[in-house]
Amino acid sequence: MMNTNLQDYSHKRYNILTGEWVLVSPHRAKRPWQGQNEAIANENRPLYDPSCYLCAGNTRINGENNPDYKDVFVFTNDFAALQKDSPKFSVNEGLLRAESEQGICKVICFSPDHSKSLADMAVADIHKVVSTWQKEYLTLGSNEMINYVQIFENKGAVMGCSNPHPHGQIWSQSTLPNEVYKKNEHQKAYYKNNNRSLLEDYLKQELKADERILYQNDSFVVLTPFWAVWPFETMIIPKKHHRHIAEISEEESLGFADAISKITRAYDHLFQCSFPYSSGIHQAPTNNDLNSHWHWHMSFYPPLLRSASVKKFMVGYEMFGSPQRDITAEQAADRLRELIVL
Ligand SMILES: [Zn+2]
Repeated sequence: MMNTNLQDYSHKRYNILTGEWVLVSPHRAKRPWQGQNEAIANENRPLYDPSCYLCAGNTRINGENNPDYKDVFVFTNDFAALQKDSPKFSVNEGLLRAESEQGICKVICFSPDHSKSLADMAVADIHKVVSTWQKEYLTLGSNEMINYVQIFENKGAVMGCSNPHPHGQIWSQSTLPNEVYKKNEHQKAYYKNNNRSLLEDYLKQELKADERILYQNDSFVVLTPFWAVWPFETMIIPKKHHRHIAEISEEESLGFADAISKITRAYDHLFQCSFPYSSGIHQAPTNNDLNSHWHWHMSFYPPLLRSASVKKFMVGYEMFGSPQRDITAEQAADRLRELIVL
């Protein structure tokens, strides 16, 4: 049983993957739940939108035509943040430092159906998305220039997503981005000292405690991490120590699709809305190292706090100090667990 002080008094929790702390203030959330569960009028989107640049058959801004795709469709981002052919250079002038960065950015349409999100899709169709992620990780990763592949989704206008068509992105680049760099260092140190994966051991402890587990199938666990920052943040972790998404079996990838389906549906039920979030997969770099310390996982960072219309802002103390939350990871887990439909 966990120390009850964690549910009563201000404290900070350590993120074993990044080495950062989150301030938790459970006393502020002691008041009974006042979340408004009013149903937000779900915008009824059409199956096809002639003005959507991701719908099948439509013309994108750069003049290319999308094919008449039937399930998943991937293309190179027309407005990529990273350039494939940028020259290699570095700037070292006194205290001013810069490095060139090369990369390839792709867009992945999850479905031709403009009205759907992952939460509305059948597990078999989410499985096709998973297979595409695996393929892209391997293909992009095999490129000599690419040392890291970041798969992510921004869902909802509140997350800055400019198009409601179900889609995600894959940015691949020559160096490790900040979050991955931190996780790489912490997993490497743990593996060196214990000869086991950090998340494998964390998962064992979480399954034993059974306080933050939302759902599990044969291959995956969905949980609220002990150090969650966002009010309803969750993680999907493979039970077996795999370094990256392409290492899992066909059966496991179906289990992954099932886990994604379960958590995204629970999210939609939480505030009766198409739940916004940023989700992403962190996995082994595609450099030439063995990367045995890596245990890949997917995280969901949703911005909503109390209802579909109350957003959590990272401002003030959180900008200048540390992230802070009121409801504890355990309270969030209790609410989400009830909404998992088996
Ligand atoms: Zn569309």
